[in-house]
Amino acid sequence: MLSDSIQKAINEQMKNELYSAYLYLAMSAHFEAENLPGFARWTRLQAKEETEHAMKFFDYVTDSGGRVTLHAIDQPPVEYGSPLKVFESILEHEKKVTGMIHNLYAAAVKENDFATQVMLHWFITEQVEEEKNASAIVEQLKMAEEHKGIWVNIDHHVGKRE
Ligand code: FE
Repeated sequence: MLSDSIQKAINEQMKNELYSAYLYLAMSAHFEAENLPGFARWTRLQAKEETEHAMKFFDYVTDSGGRVTLHAIDQPPVEYGSPLKVFESILEHEKKVTGMIHNLYAAAVKENDFATQVMLHWFITEQVEEEKNASAIVEQLKMAEEHKGIWVNIDHHVGKRE
């Protein structure tokens, strides 16, 4: 059984995951408009993953006999800069999400909520991966900054994501 405060925090995180999906989808639309289909595909797949994260929380609340409540999702920015700017903001965003997951975990520890701690292990590992992936692309884009033609190659490479 979930405590009220943990249930509230998980419902809030569900909204944050859906906002992430919205943000990545907006970035995908930006890359489509910029004729960079590889980056568009990468961010679109990322958006899909974020909805799956939200659904993990959804199912966890339901399976624990709790009540899912859906909050309003903010509108993501419409305009984005260069691919480097976009991936730098992705890395910043993922670091923020890591902090949110860690806060949620700390709350579960404080309340001796062991089931929520176990559920969150997956997210803690996932965030290490998210930050690693974003920072690898940031590094490649930094190297390419002076030679904009290379964007096209990186776009192709990034678009090969499974
Ligand atoms: Fe996520």
